[in-house]
Amino acid sequence: MEPKKNTDTKNISKVQEKRKSSLTEETLVEAILTGDRAALARGITLVESTQAEHHKKANFLLEQCLAKKSDSIRIGITGVPGVGKSTFIEAFGKHLTSIGKKVAVLAIDPTSAQSKGSILGDKTRMNELVKDPNAFIRPSPSSESLGGVARKTRETMILCEAAGYNVILIETVGVGQSETAVHSMVDFFLLLKLAGAGDELQGIKRGIIEMADALVINKADGANRKEAHRAQTEFKKALHLYPPKSNGWIPKVLTCSALEKTGITEIWNMILEFVALAKKKGHFISNRKKQNQSWLLQTIDERLKQVFYSDPKNKKRLEELMNDVKTNKISPFQAAEKLLRANEKEKS
Ligand code: GDP
Repeated sequence: MEPKKNTDTKNISKVQEKRKSSLTEETLVEAILTGDRAALARGITLVESTQAEHHKKANFLLEQCLAKKSDSIRIGITGVPGVGKSTFIEAFGKHLTSIGKKVAVLAIDPTSAQSKGSILGDKTRMNELVKDPNAFIRPSPSSESLGGVARKTRETMILCEAAGYNVILIETVGVGQSETAVHSMVDFFLLLKLAGAGDELQGIKRGIIEMADALVINKADGANRKEAHRAQTEFKKALHLYPPKSNGWIPKVLTCSALEKTGITEIWNMILEFVALAKKKGHFISNRKKQNQSWLLQTIDERLKQVFYSDPKNKKRLEELMNDVKTNKISPFQAAEKLLRANEKEKS
């Protein structure tokens, strides 16, 4: 059987190669809508591209994909490195595909521009999920700015939804503003934690607690199980001190072992409970609408910057002014004014 499979795979990839070269935007959209993974990957590459000629094509794709109805649930997952995000996503994702869901795993890693390649959404760390035909894993795009990474991930999410992926998992690490960026594009935000000694809330940024819809204490296995349950009680008590969320949801505290795959079903059931409540009360839709509005502002913001900084004249002037500021020839404020004015004059 094996050689046949290999020949089949070869034939399929030949067909895909051929198709790739002859794809127009229209056929690419069609292929994405039928769930063609190669087409989806190609669409994402367009969305991630910084080349001006790809921009129009990417916009066309997005518009077409946005028109497709999706019943997706978008889930953000955060936690410090080593907490078990990849292991959790692997176990959670496998559970979801086993109950008939199609899962896309995306990531926002603002450090990927520096580290040249993502530490998150890393395929090699999700051995089982990567082989699953109902899972699609895409590492974090690299970009100069968090805004750029966030935009690309958001747009990728739209393409994945159009391709039929109905659970979107977006992974991030607890650094800088990346959690806020993920929070602003998901329906449910999950914080993975480890049981630690002492005051459990120490070491968690206050903002994160306010964003989280659930705290899940991972590695509740072996000798650590008891400690994890103790931490659960502590966290529950501490969360009571926070005002309830505007949607009426009281953040839950659960435990799991991503390694032993325990507590996974409970987490999914909790998310379903949240979604049912949010849909019933109208918060699900209103939250997405609010996110769309902030998406509009962020897109304008990003486009303006992109247009400004990619203009060769601005680039050259900026370089000169950077030097002038460095040598104290001009104040940073005057330099900014000068550059903006020169740019305005040119455009008028
Ligand atoms: P990430 O950096 O947050 O993505 O963490 P990883 O998923 O790479 O996990 C870090 C380490 O913790 C690895 O050695 C995992 O095998 C281990 N790990 C993850 N989940 C569990 C768990 O539920 N129980 C135990 N005992 N170890 C785990």
